[in-house]
Parts: sequence; C-alpha cells; structure tokens
Amino acid sequence: MKKYISTLYELQLLDDQLDELQASLGDLPASINHIKEEIRFRESGIEERRQEIQDIEVKIEKNHEEAEKLKETINKSQKERFSVRSNKVYDALSKQIDHAEDTIKKMSLENEHLGHKSVTLAEDIELMQPEIKDMHKELAEKEGELAEIQKASEKERKKLEERRAAVEAQIKKPDLNVYLRVRKARAGKAVATIKRESCSGCHSVIRPNNLLEIRKEDKIHTCEYCGRILISDRITEEVEKEFSI
Ligand SMILES: [Zn+2]
Repeated sequence: MKKYISTLYELQLLDDQLDELQASLGDLPASINHIKEEIRFRESGIEERRQEIQDIEVKIEKNHEEAEKLKETINKSQKERFSVRSNKVYDALSKQIDHAEDTIKKMSLENEHLGHKSVTLAEDIELMQPEIKDMHKELAEKEGELAEIQKASEKERKKLEERRAAVEAQIKKPDLNVYLRVRKARAGKAVATIKRESCSGCHSVIRPNNLLEIRKEDKIHTCEYCGRILISDRITEEVEKEFSI
C-alpha cells in the first residue's frame, strides 16, 4: 500500500514538471489562439460583405430590368392615350403612367442607395485585408517562436510523458479520478503532505487522530478541508529522494 501511495505522489511530481514545461511557453499558446480567432473573425466579416455586395448587384440588376419593362409600358400607354375616345380610359392610362413613373423613380433611388452601400462594403474589405495580412505575419512569428521553445524541451517532455503514463497505469481508476478532479480544482496540486502537522496544500491543522492514520500508510486519505490527497511526510521524502529525471 505504501508503494501505491507513493505512485500518487510520483504522479504529482511528474505533473509538476510537465506544468513547468507548459509554463515555459508563457502566453504564446494563448496569444496564438487569440490571433487565429481574430483572423477567423475578419475573414468571415469579409465573406459576409462579399456576399452582401453580390446580393446588392443582383438587386440593382433586377431593378434595372424592372425599370426597362415599365418604360416600355409607359411608351405603350402614352401611344394608346392618343387614340382613346373616352375620358375614363384616358384617365386610367394616365394613372397607370404616373404609377409606373413613380415606381421607376423609387427604384432608381434604391439603386443609388445600394450603390453607395456596395462602395462602403468594398472599402471595408480593402481595410480588413491588410490587417489580416499583418495578423498572419504575427501568427507565423509566434508559431515559429513556440516551435523553437517546444523543440528545445521536446526530449524532456517526451520522457516525462512516458514516465507519467507508466505511473498513471498503476493507479486505480477511482483514485485517479479523485487526483484529476482535485488537480483541476486546486491549481494543479492534487497531493499534499504533512508540514508542521498541517496540510501542506491548505495549511489547515490535521487532527492528531488523522495524523496517526495518515502515517500508518495503509490507505488513501484526503484533506477534510481542501480535498487534496494527503500522504505522509515519510513517503514524500522517500519519493523525492528517488525521483530524478
Ligand atoms: Zn488541505
């Protein structure tokens, strides 16, 4: 059992080292993700604007065609108006012509408005493109930097990961789940030891009875305050002595 408890502490030490390696990357991974997101955001913005410009072109063309048809109708109606005899028909034709002319005017205004909008959208795209280009440049630089750091520590990381996998395989699933859960909740530290009769993780005093139990090293204990796996100082000392990468 003592050996089994030791593996939990060994797992913690390996994770500490892996965390350190991760920390040596600084904010590079986060800032790379951020730049990627910004690029994606702008690219989809450009795509939306391109689509909008296309829709505008279709609408303008449709208005043009519609206006041409109405002009033909107006011409026809004007010719018809010369030959009608009744006032009623004459008025009806006049009304038709007025209505058609109004519609043409409205569509022409709409096209003018759409034309301006299309220009503005194209200008937006023009502004966004160099921004994206700069971001790609920055991204490439940061990715290069990251790759360099990772390359330098690649061997060490691989060694740690292999050792970690071997240690993890020795730990029972429920214990591993506790370890992983507490590690996540407690900033990476799932295992604590006894320091001045207190939990080294949260500094709460451990009751004398519990101290005795923990030092028996015959089962897994957790701190009743912070939930960390509590192991005897003797085990941590022994593991630390053996632990070398
Ligand atoms: Zn604690």
